[in-house]
Amino acid sequence: MDQPTLPYLTMKPPCKSSKYKGYDVRWWPPTDDTAAMIEVDVPSKTDPNTIYAVVLSPDEINCECKGFTYRKSCVHTAMVRKMIAEARSKDD
Ligand SMILES: [Zn+2]
Repeated sequence: MDQPTLPYLTMKPPCKSSKYKGYDVRWWPPTDDTAAMIEVDVPSKTDPNTIYAVVLSPDEINCECKGFTYRKSCVHTAMVRKMIAEARSKDD
C-alpha cells in the first residue's frame, strides 16, 4: 500500500489547502506512450531557498533529497502523498 496508483494521476490535484502553500504542482496527462506524471516542487522547511522535486508516476514516487536516496521515504514524499489523498477525498 506504499505505492501511488493510476487513479491518483488522472487529474491535477487541486491542493488549495494553505498547508501546501508554496508547492508548485505540474501535471502531465497520460499519452499513448507515457503514463501520467505529477511533479511537485516542495520547499525545504529548514531552507526556503531549497526546493525538492517530488515526481509521481503510476508505479513510483521519487524525491531528489538525500533522505529519500537513503531511506526511500522522506517528509516531502509524505506531504505529497497526503496532498493527493486529500484532493481525492474531496472528489468522493
Ligand atoms: Zn525528499
